[in-house]
Amino acid sequence: MTFELWNLSLYKNLSPFNSLILYECFAMKILLHICCAPCAIYPLKVLRERGNDVYGLYYNPNIHPYSEYKKRLDTLEKYAGDVGLKIIVSDEYPMEEFLRNVVFREQDRCRYCYYSRLSYAAHIARKGHFDGFTSTLLYSKFQDHNMITNLGNSLAKEYNVAFHYEDFRKGWKEGIETSRKLGMYRQQYCGCIYSEKERFYKKAKIG
Ligand code: SF4
Repeated sequence: MTFELWNLSLYKNLSPFNSLILYECFAMKILLHICCAPCAIYPLKVLRERGNDVYGLYYNPNIHPYSEYKKRLDTLEKYAGDVGLKIIVSDEYPMEEFLRNVVFREQDRCRYCYYSRLSYAAHIARKGHFDGFTSTLLYSKFQDHNMITNLGNSLAKEYNVAFHYEDFRKGWKEGIETSRKLGMYRQQYCGCIYSEKERFYKKAKIG
């Protein structure tokens, strides 16, 4: 069936369920927000398998220090070159803004962290006339999947651009194995200085 067979009136008469099928049937220009190269492997693979035109977006002011942010970016740029992925790299790194927004509410910091990155992705997707946006955050078993999904859906309404939800966690093992085979740099902590402390700081044992 070719695209020409679907006219606008038919589209308008589709039930939400059929609209979803239609959405899945046609290739889309998708903006994939990427937190790091290892997490991009599986989402990129499945999105491309369906014929979507995928662009990557690197915007992660939550990754500290800057040398770590750059290391993850360098790894992504190398991988993107190898697999022919076009990436948009933000020239902004508002680390100070990130810290100002989470200080004194460190326990709830991930909400702001997801929000800042997804809202930037929605903004770029809207500006760049993408059909939708999504994020490699949906790949991680260590992130709050429901919170990311809810934020994505609410930002989709706010920016009037579709949020492509998918449970990329299904490919968790596959992504890890591939990144290891490729000898890709794999970071040891989530990103922010708080997560770095949680990963490495061990309280001194008394006695
Ligand atoms: S732990 Fe990870 S998701 Fe949470 S605020 Fe830090 S970098 Fe962001």
